Amino acid sequence: METNALSELCNAVASLLNSSRRVLFITGAGVSADSGVPTYRGVGGLGCHASDDPLFDIERELDFEVMTLDPTRAWRTFHTMERESRDAAPNDAHARLSAFCRARPGAWTLTRNVDGLHRRADTPNLIELNGNLRDLECIGCGWHESVVSFEGLEATPQCPSCGRVVRPRCSLVGEPPIEEAMLALERELKRGFDVVACVGASSNASFVADLLGETQARGTPTIEINPGESVVAHAAHMRLPVTPAVGIASVFERMKTPPPHAA
Ligand SMILES: [Zn+2]
Repeated sequence: METNALSELCNAVASLLNSSRRVLFITGAGVSADSGVPTYRGVGGLGCHASDDPLFDIERELDFEVMTLDPTRAWRTFHTMERESRDAAPNDAHARLSAFCRARPGAWTLTRNVDGLHRRADTPNLIELNGNLRDLECIGCGWHESVVSFEGLEATPQCPSCGRVVRPRCSLVGEPPIEEAMLALERELKRGFDVVACVGASSNASFVADLLGETQARGTPTIEINPGESVVAHAAHMRLPVTPAVGIASVFERMKTPPPHAA
């Protein structure tokens, strides 16, 4: 049940979103967790809980050097991760964010998650900062293909065009974000946003914390929806301490007026 204070906060956030044309939603692992996707380092879809080996170190296994030096070993981890998120479906928060961005063409969704759930919810204006686990690319010739699942894929897939090894097009440990995602983000940040809302970001999201801090410093209103502690909290003007599913539903149900037309 909502307390009065929480209810007033939801009203305030709904009112702010109602009057905003350019909105940036930044989503993290919390949004995927509501779909039952395991998370790792705050990135939804980069999870691996299936190993019984106490010496199994996911951080080491997902390092980009493993992919470079021993693709077969790297692919064992990718297959496990993909299997764990294969049956997950977009949840209510994915659907509501997608509908909001469709109704308001100035609204964007920036996600750190690689499970593709925002894409499956047909989210327009989507920036997948860390890529997507099911986007495959050849390390040699530029061949690429997006697959629905890894079912039927070889243990270590090879490029049908040149025979070299294929990898998921997502940021591994030690790699920067996806280049065109960064370019799209920089372009939209230059155009400016009326409000930036951080939804389900983790305690391990320094990039997001920096982005929100810079936004706040410019005087742009910032919102955070997150039930726990996070590195983002200090940079949020308004903070809803609830899960993304609960917070998004509570706020969006209060938004009755039609969205303003985008330029
Ligand atoms: Zn190739």
